[in-house]
Amino acid sequence: MSTIQLADNHCHLLSKYYKDPEAKIYDLQESDLKYIVSLGTDFLTNQELLILKQKISNGFFKIGLGLHPEEVINLGTLATYELERIIHQIIQNIDIIDYIGEIGIDFKYTNAEQYKDLQILVFQEFCKLAKQLQKPMSIHARGSFQEIIDIIRSVGFDKNTFNGFLHCFTGSFEHGQALIENNFKLGIGGIITYKSGADLRDTVKKLVDYYSGSTLNDLFGLETDSPFLSPEPYRNKTNSPENVKIIAEYLTQFLSKS
Ligand SMILES: [Zn+2]
Repeated sequence: MSTIQLADNHCHLLSKYYKDPEAKIYDLQESDLKYIVSLGTDFLTNQELLILKQKISNGFFKIGLGLHPEEVINLGTLATYELERIIHQIIQNIDIIDYIGEIGIDFKYTNAEQYKDLQILVFQEFCKLAKQLQKPMSIHARGSFQEIIDIIRSVGFDKNTFNGFLHCFTGSFEHGQALIENNFKLGIGGIITYKSGADLRDTVKKLVDYYSGSTLNDLFGLETDSPFLSPEPYRNKTNSPENVKIIAEYLTQFLSKS
């Protein structure tokens, strides 16, 4: 079995979660992680990442700018103004941005029902932008895998280029297959270590068997979603990008046993 690259493909190293994100990145640079991708969730957190990226302009520290679906719901009808502002922010800074995200659709969040169409509209706009600017996306999905796949298919992405991550993948085998066929990778994080992660482990195993000619890196990428979703045995503690090592170890052990 191939090994999976030690990198954090999805985290939020932001001042609202960590005392000194800049110092944390310098520390991480000394670890054996290849790189980290820190994602913004709204205009202000995007701005914070742009300022940090100007200071740490190397390949280790990668950034994504987006509008999280929870923020879309919280903003309600004002979300379209925030969307315009963020599209402008992305276009203006396109040369130093690695991803468009965090973006996505969440049908499980409080009041999500009321803002289904709005979330779909905002996500569609980001997809069109990502295609136009040829930037990969970092996508959040809860209860919305089919809608996301339908939108990806209708926007029509080049299957020969890497189109991004479905972060913290928890979909079915068919969802995973549809995403992989469209040249997306599936983000594997702390959930795989949870007792409740049995379905996910099952799906991951099936995908690995089905794509037996592909390497783990072709299909998946490690992530922490720091500060959230700490792997076992650190569940409910503040997560940190180094914890991808725990996830990598767990994944390798589980795949070699099953
Ligand atoms: Zn996230």
